[in-house]
Amino acid sequence: MFELGQSRKTAAIRTSKCVCFFCIGDSMDKFMIEALKEAKKAYKKNEVPIGAIIVKDNKIIARAYNKKEKNNIATHHAEILAINKACRKIKNWRLNDCTLYVTVEPCVMCCGAIVQSRIKKVVYGISNKNYGGVESIATIFDNTNISIEKGIMQEECLAILQKFFNEKRN
Ligand SMILES: [Zn+2]
Repeated sequence: MFELGQSRKTAAIRTSKCVCFFCIGDSMDKFMIEALKEAKKAYKKNEVPIGAIIVKDNKIIARAYNKKEKNNIATHHAEILAINKACRKIKNWRLNDCTLYVTVEPCVMCCGAIVQSRIKKVVYGISNKNYGGVESIATIFDNTNISIEKGIMQEECLAILQKFFNEKRN
């Protein structure tokens, strides 16, 4: 069942390798590097290392990382915190011309917040089989105009999570 869903979505989601000036490797992305920096901050603070940034007019207007443990609030995912910061920054709840970069596929809750905030594009690194709301357990963006790009710097996005959970286990 999962495989069916996955293959159906694979056609709909554009997976791309960045070829821009800033890119060092074959799928490096200067904004995903920034999202990863946020994930690293989370890692250092013993939070599940997921980072997000929001970009408008090619500038970062918000950056955040998962703070569930620190704040003891279940909804304090990186994406929600970044959306809140971005709305405050531009004094507008509509983030129409913004792109959200996040290291991991947003969960169903965060996908809902992305739809509500009118973000136009979501770029993420790896899929989230247990909670992902873009392609994994739901396809929240299906009937929206939100564009999706995935697989950006996925090795790096995955590596930091694996490191975190491996250390937790030991
Ligand atoms: Zn979430």
